[in-house]
Amino acid sequence: MRCISIPRKIIINHNLCIRCLKCIRSCPAEILIQENLGGKISNEIIKITNPNLCFECRACEVICPVFAINVMCAVKNISAP
Ligand code: SF4
Ligand code: SF4
Repeated sequence: MRCISIPRKIIINHNLCIRCLKCIRSCPAEILIQENLGGKISNEIIKITNPNLCFECRACEVICPVFAINVMCAVKNISAP
């Protein structure tokens, strides 16, 4: 059986995030970045640059110590080989 899924959404809860940057370091697609929205360190957020390059490995979700990331997937096609 083959299952193809597409990324629907990556939700990052900025209120929970402690800015450890583990998700950025863990992402094999290198699509997570840190962005400062102005001045203080509390204004730094984790952003996904190109969701289309995400292949839903969930490394970022698993490594986050405060469960701030949720990778949601949508199953697009299931077919027998
Ligand atoms: S699910 Fe994998 S590829 Fe997608 S953002 Fe997270 S670590 Fe990167
Ligand atoms: S791993 Fe979690 S807590 Fe650490 S920077 Fe990423 S989202 Fe924030």
